[in-house]
Amino acid sequence: MLQLAERMSRAKPSAIMVVAEKAKKLKAAGRDIISFSIGVPNFLPGEHVYAAARDALAHDSGQYGSNRGSDALLDAFLVHLKEGGFDGYERKNLATGVGAKHVLFNLMYALLNEGDEILIPVPYWTSYVDIADILGAKTVLLPCPAEQNYKLTAAQLEAAITPKTKLLLFNNPSNPTGMVYSEAEVAALADVLVKHQLWILSDDIYNRMIFDGLQYAHLVKARPELRDRVILIDSISKTYGMPGWRVGLIAAPEQVALSQVTLNSNHITNLPEVVTAAATAALSGPQDVPREKNKDFSRRRDEVMAVLESIPGLHCPKPQGAFYAFPDISVAFGKHHGTTVIANDVDFCNVLLDVKGVACVPGSAFGEPKAIRISYTCKPAELTDGLNRIKQFFAELV
Ligand code: PMP
Repeated sequence: MLQLAERMSRAKPSAIMVVAEKAKKLKAAGRDIISFSIGVPNFLPGEHVYAAARDALAHDSGQYGSNRGSDALLDAFLVHLKEGGFDGYERKNLATGVGAKHVLFNLMYALLNEGDEILIPVPYWTSYVDIADILGAKTVLLPCPAEQNYKLTAAQLEAAITPKTKLLLFNNPSNPTGMVYSEAEVAALADVLVKHQLWILSDDIYNRMIFDGLQYAHLVKARPELRDRVILIDSISKTYGMPGWRVGLIAAPEQVALSQVTLNSNHITNLPEVVTAAATAALSGPQDVPREKNKDFSRRRDEVMAVLESIPGLHCPKPQGAFYAFPDISVAFGKHHGTTVIANDVDFCNVLLDVKGVACVPGSAFGEPKAIRISYTCKPAELTDGLNRIKQFFAELV
């Protein structure tokens, strides 16, 4: 019998996709389902993006393009970086890929040898660990429980770094928690990182979804000398409501950006022209859509928190970015709904879906089994309804 490569024994499908598919199937079968599962934006990009795509289609060369990404797209990203306070990057520091997920895979592929240690704060976005597992890297998980607002502390980071540490994965704002690091918190982490030689993947794809007037703090802004080891990762998926267009971008030390160009040349070759034109228009065109959505998500966050805070025993650190809340629901463990006992987060999500038709992702998918993730991007009426159902569910537990 022919066998797959050994590394495939370590590969598993994304746990988030599994819940989302289950919810979709139940809905298709006629059940009244509200999905708080997948992190998909509930809006489309501005008309100028479609106009650029149509224009590109009309003039499409049909030829292979640049392995790095088109100059127009790279320049739009450079302007965007500059406006965000990131100076000193040039085209040679940039590269593109098929979404941030692809970019993350390729970066870890390029930076990690088998057995290399990679620090991952917990809760983490599922794919960090899944990709590290596929590549045979050794994940060192750093627990950041709700009591510390799901954030990595400088002391924790300092204690975790060893001569074997090759890379830190840092995600700000965070999926699944919605936490945003303050400038002081980022500066404290940066002060530790300058003392050690390790790569830092800074997954910043939610950087334009920050509430309460907080700033987008960054390791490179805190300590510019970190530019030789920090890779900034961005994406058009969430900011512009374009997850299906699949464009991820990086700003990195030159040799790292070049490694991505080389991988692209053996892999995707280039992003399609139409997609490139749409992404360029999104980055360089009017920014009303992301600005409005940011306000909308901040209002939704308030609605989510008002309901969660009214549930006795439930604790949810207040999200200040992205579109997720990550309540600690361990107060439900050991309780019954009807005759069914809820032993853990997976039971909680299964029973909630069965009896109330609300799909959430168990926290264990993100390394934190005391919590569940609520993605609040559904229709407004569904959000209110779904939150009420969760509240009722808690009230029915004995
Ligand atoms: N990083 C984080 C933290 C994410 O939440 C996601 C998408 N859910 C990605 C990366 C991947 O984004 P993209 O759609 O650009 O592949």
